[in-house]
Amino acid sequence: MQTITILGSTGSIGTQALEVAEKHNIGVRALAAHSNTKLLAEQAKKFGAEYACIFREDKAEELEALLKGTGIKVLCGAEGLKQTARLKVDKLLNSVVGMVGLMPTLEAIEAGNDIALANKETLVAGGDLVMERAAEKGVKIYPVDSEHSAIFQCLQGNDRRQLDKIILTASGGPFFGKKREELADVTVAQALAHPNWSMGNKITIDSSTLMNKGLEFIEAMHLFALRPEQIEIVVHRQSIVHSAVQYKDFAVIAQLGVPDMKIPIQYALLYPERIECPTGELSLTDIGTLTFGKPDYATFDCLTACIEAARAGGILPAAVNGANEAAVRAFLDGKIKFLEIGELVTAVLRNTKNRPADTLEAVLAADRAAREYVLTKTADR
Ligand code: NDP
Ligand code: MG
Repeated sequence: MQTITILGSTGSIGTQALEVAEKHNIGVRALAAHSNTKLLAEQAKKFGAEYACIFREDKAEELEALLKGTGIKVLCGAEGLKQTARLKVDKLLNSVVGMVGLMPTLEAIEAGNDIALANKETLVAGGDLVMERAAEKGVKIYPVDSEHSAIFQCLQGNDRRQLDKIILTASGGPFFGKKREELADVTVAQALAHPNWSMGNKITIDSSTLMNKGLEFIEAMHLFALRPEQIEIVVHRQSIVHSAVQYKDFAVIAQLGVPDMKIPIQYALLYPERIECPTGELSLTDIGTLTFGKPDYATFDCLTACIEAARAGGILPAAVNGANEAAVRAFLDGKIKFLEIGELVTAVLRNTKNRPADTLEAVLAADRAAREYVLTKTADR
């Protein structure tokens, strides 16, 4: 039996990972969340965790009270999150949302814990540092993101050197086919209504702006050591083909399945094992038609900004990611309009002086400056 830790256990990915853990009797050593003490305590008790970590320090007492008499140790704050990541386990699932996931990823690598990575912002902002350190420490990073899991699956059993390019599929989100002028008055509820996937709020907004695909473009470059020209983005409305790879002989291998994150989560946790997953079976005849098209780069400027940042490298990916995190927060809080997300991300891209992302300080400073830019621009709202 293997043992895991889950950072972000109360979220969309975290709760689905616990379903997988329950089905296959995977041991849970520690769980961490941001502020949802009630669910975190329930999970820690149910799975017999040794540690429960709550990021918000003012919630630690509440968690202590909920876990009284269980023997489960409580950790809190950024320090607690780092400590949780360092606990020795077979795999650490990082499914927190946002750049806050970077520190625990680096801590897990230092501790020699293999990582199942859902937290894509970590790789977008600090991918150079993370991948280099993971290689030095011999730590493996298993992708959880469905597209990256698909690519990882399509690479199995083939010679990596014979890979030509990857085909990264995108659902197109709820606003597929719309032009900019039609998106001016989009509401939060409309942006949160994703056609195929049920996910946390931040990534659902990212899917509606196609920022998510831009982040995934950069995530793929790091995970699979690709150049930007080796990635083709294809809009595939049904989210059945989760991505594909093309080899030098032009053979294309794709991975298909129902749009359910439990499949990639389970593959990342149990790799290379393939056993029954708590999800439905794919029926191609029920689906009937699969469609493919090109993304609309002019309307979805977040995607364009990410690709430009990816090509430039350095701190620009951290800058666009930081700008987006702050802009999405402002949109969810009703402070800015939908199209302003892309405008702010693009403005930060234009206003950031690039430099190498070779130190943690450089990455964190770029992230901070980007957030400050967005906060300043939206302060009076
Ligand atoms: P959710 O918003 O549903 O969940 C986020 C989780 O992270 C919650 O458990 C939250 O705790 C926790 N969290 C947030 N901040 C902190 C912190 N500072 N310290 C500790 N825990 C924290 O997000 P998702 O599950 O949708 O997404 C998680 C990550 O996975 C994102 O990076 C996303 O891009 C990626 N991803 C998600 C997919 C999906 O289908 N959902 C698909 C592919 C990638 P609390 O509940 O207390 O707030
Ligand atoms: Mg994805």
